[in-house]
Amino acid sequence: MTQGSSLAERYEAALGRIQTAAVTSGRKADDIKLIVVTKNHPASLVLELLELGARDFGENRDQEAAPKAADVRSASTIAHDWHFVGQLQSNKVKSVLKYASSLHSLDRESLLAELNKQTERLEKNLDVFIELNLTGDPGRGGIQPQHVAQFAELALAAPRLNLLGVMGVAGLGVEPELEFERIRLASEALQVVAPQARFISAGMSEDFEVAIANGATHVRIGTAITGKRQY
Ligand SMILES: *Cc1c(COP(=O)(O)O)cnc(C)c1O
Repeated sequence: MTQGSSLAERYEAALGRIQTAAVTSGRKADDIKLIVVTKNHPASLVLELLELGARDFGENRDQEAAPKAADVRSASTIAHDWHFVGQLQSNKVKSVLKYASSLHSLDRESLLAELNKQTERLEKNLDVFIELNLTGDPGRGGIQPQHVAQFAELALAAPRLNLLGVMGVAGLGVEPELEFERIRLASEALQVVAPQARFISAGMSEDFEVAIANGATHVRIGTAITGKRQY
């Protein structure tokens, strides 16, 4: 992030870097969706981004996202989508379904059960990514790569959940190249049981170009566009 640059400049710079990373790996920039993560920034920033052309926004806490999404909806007529990217407590599912069209962090069976129940009850569809646990520690959140196909069978049985693919966050202090390679392999394993679930949500401000080189189709970029988070 360049200090002193404007939001518009940072947004355009990110689009340019996505374009370059896509072309460098023989892919099309159109095949990569930019999700601007707006956590810790006010609705006014989302409104500015809408004017700049952004249409997909990410949030990781329902308490913050629910009022922000409502504010944006009442202040703008531009169609847009909210992506929930953070750990989701089951008791927040109903609230998140009111504004989010996709969930990137489906990380456990109990959450899947609640999502199935509430999407059926509200007759609402939801795009989902299975979040991978790349730490090797089964006690940590997320589905271990070797269990992704088995977990996917459960997700596929939920009529209103549309399984898009896998999501991963590269660990701190780990070579991102290796992490994104593991995510890509998990994606291949998933597609054996769910051929349509070919999307990969991976890459953040520090590593999105590496993620794109390894097949990411959805990049979740915060600070590189929004600047430092405020609160
Ligand atoms: C905050 C967040 C991002 C964006 O992170 P930056 O480093 O600010 O780009 C992406 N994904 C998730 C899950 C996040 O919580």
